[in-house]
Amino acid sequence: MMKAAESGYPLAVSTQQREIFTGLIRIHVLVHAEHESLFGLAMMEELKHHGYRIGPGTLYPLLHGMERDGLLKSELKNVTGRQRRLYKITVTGRKALKKAKTLVDELHHELHEEHPRRVSDLEISEPGESTKADK
Ligand SMILES: [Zn+2]
Repeated sequence: MMKAAESGYPLAVSTQQREIFTGLIRIHVLVHAEHESLFGLAMMEELKHHGYRIGPGTLYPLLHGMERDGLLKSELKNVTGRQRRLYKITVTGRKALKKAKTLVDELHHELHEEHPRRVSDLEISEPGESTKADK
């Protein structure tokens, strides 16, 4: 594994790439929230360590969205004299993380394949074909 300093990390996430990488960032958040309560700024530091350069303007709405979706729950707590919003994983979040593990392992495997499966060689069934035959 390449270390952050060797590869020009952390990488800025451009607007065009945001949709792709916020999914990965959400998974990172779930990984850590499974083990401890976390707050935004600390998570930003952790993400920097992993090579993501994102600001609070991206991370805070992302955390709020994850809470809205039921993956995290938060409460305001006093952490070393400062009010912090602390996030914890929910049961729904744990389930999502479990699925993510399987799917990311699968993706990781294919990313490193020299020859990924050829999609154009797959046998396909036309949408609606089987229902036509059923009638
Ligand atoms: Zn991490």
